[in-house]
Amino acid sequence: METIIGIDLGTTNSAVCLIQNGKPVMIKDADGQAILPSVVGLDSQGRLLVGQPARNQAILAPERTVRSIKRKMGQDTKVTMGDATYAPQEISAIILRTLKDRATQVLGRPVSKAVITVPAFFNETQREATRQAGELAGLEVVRIINEPTAASLIYEATADRRERLLVYDLGGGTFDVSIVQVEGGVVEVLSSHGDTQLGGDDFDELLLNNVCERFKQEHGLDLREIPTARSRLLQAVEEAKKQLSFDACVALNEEFIAERDGAPLHLKMELYRNEYEDLIEPLLKKTIRCVDDALDDAHLHAKDIDKIILVGGSSRTPLVHQLLESQLSQTPHQEIDPDLCVAMGAAVQGALIAGDDVGSVLVDITPHTLGVQCKGFIHGMPSLFTFSPIISRNTALPATRSELYSTSVEGQKAVQVNVYQGEEADVRRNQFVGGFVLAGLDESADEGNEILIRFDLNLDGILNVTAVERSTGLEDRLTIKNAITEFRAEGHEEARAKLAEIFGDRTSPVSASRHPVAEEPHLPEAERAAIKEAIHLIAKATNLLTEAGEEDAEEIRGLIEQLEDAIANQSLSDIGHYREKLEDIVFYLQDA
Ligand code: AMP
Repeated sequence: METIIGIDLGTTNSAVCLIQNGKPVMIKDADGQAILPSVVGLDSQGRLLVGQPARNQAILAPERTVRSIKRKMGQDTKVTMGDATYAPQEISAIILRTLKDRATQVLGRPVSKAVITVPAFFNETQREATRQAGELAGLEVVRIINEPTAASLIYEATADRRERLLVYDLGGGTFDVSIVQVEGGVVEVLSSHGDTQLGGDDFDELLLNNVCERFKQEHGLDLREIPTARSRLLQAVEEAKKQLSFDACVALNEEFIAERDGAPLHLKMELYRNEYEDLIEPLLKKTIRCVDDALDDAHLHAKDIDKIILVGGSSRTPLVHQLLESQLSQTPHQEIDPDLCVAMGAAVQGALIAGDDVGSVLVDITPHTLGVQCKGFIHGMPSLFTFSPIISRNTALPATRSELYSTSVEGQKAVQVNVYQGEEADVRRNQFVGGFVLAGLDESADEGNEILIRFDLNLDGILNVTAVERSTGLEDRLTIKNAITEFRAEGHEEARAKLAEIFGDRTSPVSASRHPVAEEPHLPEAERAAIKEAIHLIAKATNLLTEAGEEDAEEIRGLIEQLEDAIANQSLSDIGHYREKLEDIVFYLQDA
């Protein structure tokens, strides 16, 4: 039977996939890369470059390089590359031809038919131009399908009942959101919205500007004005940005980035995810407004959506997940690589047309969210029992993620790392899966001493938890087996008992907070202040437990317990009463 390949012809990147034995197989290049940057160029000798080599020369040789040609598809225009001009279809044909050749090489026989995807908002002229590009590349384009349709097919090709999906696609240069209805392999786009000038490239620019401003303040030199430094830095910030989707902070280290008065200048900076997110939040809020518009146009409400699917490399940004989750009250799906799922869906469509069997795509994922207990807020109320997710459910395995926390009191000696599984904001309603104490922290540190917690979860469900004091590198770790199956609390009494031995607590007081803590202004100011001070006092008292005598420790534990109950009941009078008592003993011990 003839193979019909599926091609995602993207603005920034393209990819090709085919179905073999009912499963999608991405076609990779000799270096093992499934993604082909959608960039075409000529080198200094006039030889054709496609993909990464063309991308590499894009900034330094723009006159010989063409990128983002998809934006011009369907226009009666020409682009210049070297000494010649080309129609947009001709440039797209070069990309398609490269992908076709890859497929031919891997299959060992000629490939001549393809399904190609286009954005839902493409008009007839743009679709026709895409079809022409395919033909110029020597492909019979058996169907042009919408990108959200392709993404839906890969998630729901075999759904029997009617499902409504929201496909949120945030790539390098464009954003679109579509509401689609799937039933028995038939997909209908109900509505579509987007912004053709919004994507990861804008995030890179924002981060670049931020880094350059900081560098300018320190060295009095604007790196944006030096083309080679700018282009090097742009690549570095893009890499850093990608890493920030998995880690709470990354180091940017570019040696010899520039020169002043004959002396080399190095760029060394820490980038924090929360600061980066502040930069891009206004742009992401724009995408959420498009989501609302798409729902309105489809005459649907958030509750009518069965599944949210994330597509496009930039949708890996954790803030995207958070904003969508709070807007639509459900966890988005990203188990299938968001860079590849459109090409995979196109291949599924190809196989359906060819009459091949297509099984559902199985990926190993975390069925539950894994995270730690910390000091924070639950529904606007300060709490010691805030669940801080680190690996959210539906994440493909293996997965590595880290988050940054900080100590609550000056001179804090230890932090307690309690790992939970579940979806509730309050850890007491989730499953405790294990815990340990990182002891021996730098006692000269003020409150806010940074503690990095990293989760490494492998395919066998083994979770490695590492806690690191960033200033000293002090580290401790714990391995938890079967972290992806449903945990039973009874099996973990041992770990709980070990923690209780040190801190003697009923529900394990917290000694680190999410860094920095976002405050939600729900409670009246007086109550907020009282609860926050009480929580701070609990952290202080906990810090003293290890050095208190047995009798004092006993009393402290009792008072902590009573104060926790008072906080849980939001009883201001009880909070005041137990706080006073606990304060007395804390002052007494601190003076002793
Ligand atoms: P696409 O156009 O769908 O191929 O998406 C490309 C965009 O996704 C580029 O702006 C990339 O920098 C961005 N991207 C890729 N991986 C990540 C990641 N892990 N986190 C954030 N953005 C990413």
